[in-house]
Amino acid sequence: MQNPFENAMRQLTRATAVKQFDSTFIEQISYPHREIRGHIPLRKDDGSLQMVEFYRVQHNNWRGPYKGGIRFHQDTDIEEVKALAFWMTLKCAVANIPMGGGKGGATINPKELSITELEQLSRAWMRALADVVGPQKDVPAPDVNTTPQIMAWMSDEYGKITGDRSGAVITGKPLEVGGSEGRGTATAQGGFYVFEALRLNFGLSDSCKVVIQGFGNAGEHAAELWLKAGHKIVAVSDSKSAVRNQNGLDIAALLEHKKTSGSVRDFAGGETFEGSELLFEPCDLLIPAALENQIREDNVARIQAKVVLELANGPTTPEADDVLFAKGVPVIPDILANSGGVTVSTYEWEQNIKGEHWSEADVFMKLKTNIQEQALQIFDQAKNLKTDLRRSAFILALERIAKAQK
Ligand code: GLU
Repeated sequence: MQNPFENAMRQLTRATAVKQFDSTFIEQISYPHREIRGHIPLRKDDGSLQMVEFYRVQHNNWRGPYKGGIRFHQDTDIEEVKALAFWMTLKCAVANIPMGGGKGGATINPKELSITELEQLSRAWMRALADVVGPQKDVPAPDVNTTPQIMAWMSDEYGKITGDRSGAVITGKPLEVGGSEGRGTATAQGGFYVFEALRLNFGLSDSCKVVIQGFGNAGEHAAELWLKAGHKIVAVSDSKSAVRNQNGLDIAALLEHKKTSGSVRDFAGGETFEGSELLFEPCDLLIPAALENQIREDNVARIQAKVVLELANGPTTPEADDVLFAKGVPVIPDILANSGGVTVSTYEWEQNIKGEHWSEADVFMKLKTNIQEQALQIFDQAKNLKTDLRRSAFILALERIAKAQK
């Protein structure tokens, strides 16, 4: 697998070849402020001990406190977390929210843990990092395999240690303990607003065939949102398998099937096929909503989508970007397309600090206005500079970060 941090740095170099920035600024933005890693002793239910490696990378805080999720995954490592933290710095700048970038993780498969083991791990992660996070320092959130329940345990642990029970230390919490309306669906919702803002520019109708890779928080909600808007979800995959139906999948039934069986595999309302083949299904819109390095030099020729919208972080490599751009397939980049998640996270943080609770309608109205403004700006700039949307998004972000540094 390609090193995601190296790919991220190549994206940076490619963007700064289109628009020049002060070289000392670019040098500084290429390094995280701080990388923390260590080991959490996890006592398993059977009495055995497992040492779990954990991370927090605080990439940059010139625009505000470090901000970004926590990933629990068996394959995560410091290079991945560094890349994700760097992308958060750019994403928060694209979203124009007062936050810097950070990311955290633990190398473990949480699906193999019991509920008590998961709670222990979550609380221990927060205990290990309680000194360096905080509402004005670093504000974590969910990412791959981390849930509102996990955020609640972490928020509670931080409250016990510091006495700060505002909840503003972490976002993506359940509503009952300071969560925001709309945070659960915000990543997909933001992606949908971006799609709606740009759809006609890409020549797409209001009844697209949509393929979604990944059926976690982002992918599931995307399926529901696009379906509700009149599009057809023709194929979906999760970490185990894929399922397709040219007439459109019944998403409510598929969600039910996944809940009971643990996977989309063998869903009666479609044909099960290899998850690794999902990306190559013919469609108007392809939504990668899983992990990095999915669309690469070795498989990009097989992509048949007319437009790619990245709800995952880092799903497309720079080489694949070039091939798609040359073919006229727009790639709506992660740092714009999935920025709805961190935007509503920031609304949650603001509500916690002020002791307020905003309605879902208010949250989504604010999100929509903000994210569509950024989307149009990035689109127009890409046209003017004759470059792709990723480079354009990078340039917009870098300009904002550079101003803050000054
Ligand atoms: N993990 C999400 C992301 O990659 C959300 C981060 C947040 O809400 O802070 O953008």
